[in-house]
Amino acid sequence: MVATNNHTKAEAKEEAKNLISPKDEMTEVTVTTEDLRVPKSSVVNRHGRSASFDRREIVIFSDFDGTIFLQDTGHILFDAHGCGSERRKVLDEQIKSGERTFREVSEEMWGSLNVPFEDGFEVMKTALDIDPDFREFHQFCVDNKIPFNVISAGLKPILRAVLDEFLGKKNSKNIDIISNDAEISRDGSEWKPVWRHNTPLGHDKAATIKEYRSTASSDSEDDQGPLIVFIGDGVSDLPAAREADVLFARKGLRLEEYCLEHRLPYIPFETFKDIQKDVTRIMAEDTHSKKSTGKAKYHNPRANFWRRMSSKQMVPMVIARTPVEERMYYWPEFSSVPRNATAIR
Ligand SMILES: [Mg+2]
Repeated sequence: MVATNNHTKAEAKEEAKNLISPKDEMTEVTVTTEDLRVPKSSVVNRHGRSASFDRREIVIFSDFDGTIFLQDTGHILFDAHGCGSERRKVLDEQIKSGERTFREVSEEMWGSLNVPFEDGFEVMKTALDIDPDFREFHQFCVDNKIPFNVISAGLKPILRAVLDEFLGKKNSKNIDIISNDAEISRDGSEWKPVWRHNTPLGHDKAATIKEYRSTASSDSEDDQGPLIVFIGDGVSDLPAAREADVLFARKGLRLEEYCLEHRLPYIPFETFKDIQKDVTRIMAEDTHSKKSTGKAKYHNPRANFWRRMSSKQMVPMVIARTPVEERMYYWPEFSSVPRNATAIR
């Protein structure tokens, strides 16, 4: 019995040695409570204050898989080195039908991998396509001092390595990644997501945006806080759709369907060029409206209602006890969308 225990401890020690540690150059994997907060650099504009003091601060949160990149990093890995595309389709169906949660299914998919990180990454280098206008859009954000953050249901070490590869390390450094983390054994036999939130989605993007809004707004001189833009495409983006001031949804995918079903205002896009055009217009209109009426034009009253309530410590309690699906239908009267509205352009 003792021998077994000793053996187990020795084994555990050996396994721990095989885990990639945060000190490794390749990736950071260990998560602390501090890591789980929205990074401070996402809240405070890392490039200094906005170019114009008259301009309302604007911050962008963008999904990664299917949004910045046209494919899904996880799917590429599962198909090449894990459960395979047939099993993945069955598992995807289980999420759609509600039989199992996104988090349960994701754990099975990531757990099916058996490939060292570096070898898995080689497949992604060739299989991934970046949105053709993303690089230019990112430069537009840097030039206009607009913080751009990735908000993802994926795994941080993968997302960072992909951004480093496709944008170069210097540009990649300008982007904060708010996502789940991972523990990956050195030999690739174990891939384990470290979830950001204890919810069926693993990363509740709505909670992350609320956290950002409440932190950023406490520094705001007026009642409206920064203009929050969210860009997404799929299932993991649905809860966040109601939290942004301006929402972009990739055309023809699940997030757009959801916006139409629930009459949420959104702007459809095909590439980041469309987003750049609209963000430029929105910044100008918002600034003009604020100068002439004292109120920003792009302002989500429902999301800001939550923000004000949360300062009284009430809402976090309510939210914590409310299942994610129900939260999507909360207080529709706070929606600013007319009954017959679809897109806002
Ligand atoms: Mg996506």
